[in-house]
Amino acid sequence: MSRTEEWREERRRCLERARLVVVKVGSAVLTDADGLSDNVMSGLARQLATLRGVDGARKAVLVSSGAVAAGRRALARHGRTCETQGLAARQAAAALGQGQLMRLWDKVLRPYGIPVAQVLLTRDDLRARTRFLNARNTFAELLSWDALPIVNENDTVSVQELKFGDNDCLASLLVNLVGADLYINLTSAPGVFASNPDADADAEILSCIDDVSRLDLGRLCGGKTSVGTGGMYSKLLAARRASQLGVPTLILPGRQEDVICRALAGEDVGTWVRPAEHAISRRKFWLAYQSDPAGTLWVDEGAAEALSGKGGSLLPGGVRRVDGTFQKGALVRIARLGCDGPQSSLGVGLTNYAAGELRKIMGLRRHEVAAILGDAHYPEVIHRDNLLLDAAV
Ligand code: GLU
Repeated sequence: MSRTEEWREERRRCLERARLVVVKVGSAVLTDADGLSDNVMSGLARQLATLRGVDGARKAVLVSSGAVAAGRRALARHGRTCETQGLAARQAAAALGQGQLMRLWDKVLRPYGIPVAQVLLTRDDLRARTRFLNARNTFAELLSWDALPIVNENDTVSVQELKFGDNDCLASLLVNLVGADLYINLTSAPGVFASNPDADADAEILSCIDDVSRLDLGRLCGGKTSVGTGGMYSKLLAARRASQLGVPTLILPGRQEDVICRALAGEDVGTWVRPAEHAISRRKFWLAYQSDPAGTLWVDEGAAEALSGKGGSLLPGGVRRVDGTFQKGALVRIARLGCDGPQSSLGVGLTNYAAGELRKIMGLRRHEVAAILGDAHYPEVIHRDNLLLDAAV
């Protein structure tokens, strides 16, 4: 499909051709003051059935939040209220609510003959390549049975450093894991606003985002750029990751009647995020997003140019500063020395050297490195095959 093709035509074709869709729905869509909304979930079940098609032409994976909210309601029903903001309290509330969440999904999907399968994941599960591949096999089997995998973060055992950050991010990793060709993110907002709606009452909805990697997310999201709290920032970050894989994202107002079906029928609703023209490999995607970077390598202009302009690897001579403590094989961020903020970020990659070793050899040429480490050393700090430039981290 050519880039210059009109985006509505691209959207029509992608929606028509999509065979495996990751649908993510947030707590704000699923819940009202009393907790999980039977009504909303019934409406979504009907739409998921339509999405899959009568002949099962499409398959879907659902990423559903709402365990914490359901847990709160369960406690309230027993006459107890609790503070669920702290990490342990959220984990405990999720333990109470996850079963209820699945029970309700099962109830509303049953009339459509859709068997539901619960999959709870921690980030650690996808970090090890063998576990990642095992999970992929399980999803493939479930989908071959026409079951609907319903995924949530395994909140009860996820500690801070194991967390996906939020379900937007988890869903974008699943797009890669299952090889989806469309990502639908159901949110409580009407779509992506062209400017921060808190500051600009006339802010309009963007029907299409042509190149999500060029958006100034800080400006668009009014500075609310922390991942882990949901919000539009994490939705756009997740859409950017999907786009890198060549997968479009549809950000839809999840509470609107029949919104998925209307979008499938070609109505202009929500925001269409176009896929990147040149997709990255699934392996590169996995290596870049399997965990948060454990440190930062600050590089000089020459190295930045070799990486960005010439597709080269990162050599010891170009590294000027090393932040953080990490082992060989860790994922690290590469930043341009002399720049601040997001502009400094060049990408991420897997380092051949631990932080301590790297501090000894940074700035040195190959023969100088050999004099310190001996002949059996890696010429590259990060090989270009293990590097993702413009990473959405
Ligand atoms: N896993 C959490 C829950 O089920 C929600 C996380 C999120 O919404 O991003 O309540």
